[in-house]
Amino acid sequence: MALSHPKLELRPLGNTGLKLSAVGFGASPLGNVFGAVTEEVANASVREAFRMGINLFDTSPYYGGTLSEKVLGKALKALGVPRNEYVVSTKCGRYVEGFDFSADRVTRSIDESLERLQLDYVDILQCHDIEFGNLDQIVNETIPALQKLKDAGKIRFIGITGLPLRIFTYVLDRVPPGTVDVILSYCHYSINDSTLEGLIPYLKSKGVGVISASPLAMGLLTESGPPEWHPASPELKSSCQAAAAYCKGKGKNISKLAMQYSLSNKDISSVLVGMNSVRQVEENVAAALELANAGKDDEALSEVNAILKPVKDQTWPSGI
Ligand code: NAD
Repeated sequence: MALSHPKLELRPLGNTGLKLSAVGFGASPLGNVFGAVTEEVANASVREAFRMGINLFDTSPYYGGTLSEKVLGKALKALGVPRNEYVVSTKCGRYVEGFDFSADRVTRSIDESLERLQLDYVDILQCHDIEFGNLDQIVNETIPALQKLKDAGKIRFIGITGLPLRIFTYVLDRVPPGTVDVILSYCHYSINDSTLEGLIPYLKSKGVGVISASPLAMGLLTESGPPEWHPASPELKSSCQAAAAYCKGKGKNISKLAMQYSLSNKDISSVLVGMNSVRQVEENVAAALELANAGKDDEALSEVNAILKPVKDQTWPSGI
């Protein structure tokens, strides 16, 4: 098999020593979250991603009710490359049956995930969507349980994920320094909402790595539009579709513009985009390579910013 594509940029992740590809592979689509994906297409997408230099693969037991972990595990095994050539992140605490951030549940959860993924360890284990849990439990019970998993060699690094940005400061202000290695934020560093930017100096000061997911705002910034379950307001959905139509009219692609916007902030270690075809992998890696060579399309960006101005930084409720 060909070695990794040399040109896709690698970026350090906080104090972990890991270097992540600037484009990361979001495997929620492999759980059929955005429509059905055959195992053949899933395998081919993961293979092409690795071939083009993507080394970060993110999943969760929640995606497709464990399906994403199983499909990703098979596809990674089929690569037949040494385990240290790719980084796997999965999550704990969120399941199709509901949320459970207890020490007992997350301790069992990693064994279940490792079995589905066919791995001996994951690189990053993240508490999934902690705004749905009790944040004091995350600080006092969940993260200490994850530290034991670190000591046992089942995970290398600890992360937390969620939508509201205040959850990150709440937890990071209360855990010993160096306990939480990485945060995964989503839908807060894309053209329509860039509020994550304000948190980056704080995260850097703590040495916490930043992964930013959903650069396409979970489908809002695509020509075909978001899935049925998308939580955005009708106003936000229609503004994003107007922006997509504007780009199309100019012979441009909103998703490429959105990828390049998110990738241009180098304090973000990896931009995690959900992909369910070889074509999407190729397009998203090409967007990164083009950005490195030619820079952003500032003209199209300023037009799209003007269209999205009335809904800029608009988000939706998440959590309890
Ligand atoms: P996204 O913004 O990455 O959008 C994904 C959608 O865009 C899918 O329908 C995909 O098929 C489509 N797409 C991808 N590339 C495209 C292209 N070039 N042209 C047109 N369409 C394209 O949203 P996402 O998948 O929700 O987020 C990315 C990943 O981040 C997830 O798969 C998951 O791994 C992670 N994530 C984690 C959390 C969390 O922990 N709470 C939340 C959201 C996302």
